[in-house]
Amino acid sequence: MQKLLLFDIDGTLIRSNGAGRLTLAYALERLFGTVGPLEEYNMSGKTDPRIITDLLTAIGVSPKEINKQLPAIYELMAEHGQKIFKDKEMTACAGVPELLARLVARDDVIMGLLTGNSQLTAPLKLSAAGIDPLQFKVGAYGSDAMDRNELPAIGISRANQLTGAQFNGNNTVIIGDTPADILCARAGKATAVAVASGWHAATTLADYQPDHLFDNLGDTDQVLQALLS
Ligand SMILES: [Mg+2]
Repeated sequence: MQKLLLFDIDGTLIRSNGAGRLTLAYALERLFGTVGPLEEYNMSGKTDPRIITDLLTAIGVSPKEINKQLPAIYELMAEHGQKIFKDKEMTACAGVPELLARLVARDDVIMGLLTGNSQLTAPLKLSAAGIDPLQFKVGAYGSDAMDRNELPAIGISRANQLTGAQFNGNNTVIIGDTPADILCARAGKATAVAVASGWHAATTLADYQPDHLFDNLGDTDQVLQALLS
């Protein structure tokens, strides 16, 4: 049976060292002259449109205006990312290059992304960390939905369109580093694989009862077994 593996990016595949926050600050500053309460905002597990909407709502921008500006914000974020990512020493998380090399060689696996990043920024971040974005055949992005829990269905539907396969929650695995990733896997009736390589301790992630939990993705054989079982 084929498996669809949907990977989160930040804290799961790569460490971006605050680069995402800088691109957001740049875009908001350019368009609105302020970043709103970005300094104290917890971005963990949230989609870009969720973050942007929260920050702009806090300074009184209307939902209608926010929606209208989202595409321009994504463009500015990507444009700035293209400039700064190379200097942010972004790296792949432990074990990720080895794991991806093993997965890409298999014909029973479709690799995809499920991320709060916009579709424009996601490949830039991966490339900056030395990961080839083209090995991910499908993606569900923050630019597709504000609510992360809507992204599994989008990723699954795109994988089905691309491959003609019949993916559903039963043969889909969502890999992420935050409680929001685990909840989103549940929303998509998919298998939840949590990895404590981001901002959340394994003990915190364990409270959300993922199907599998790793400190990092370093033990390739063990991770493969969890992903493909
Ligand atoms: Mg993450």
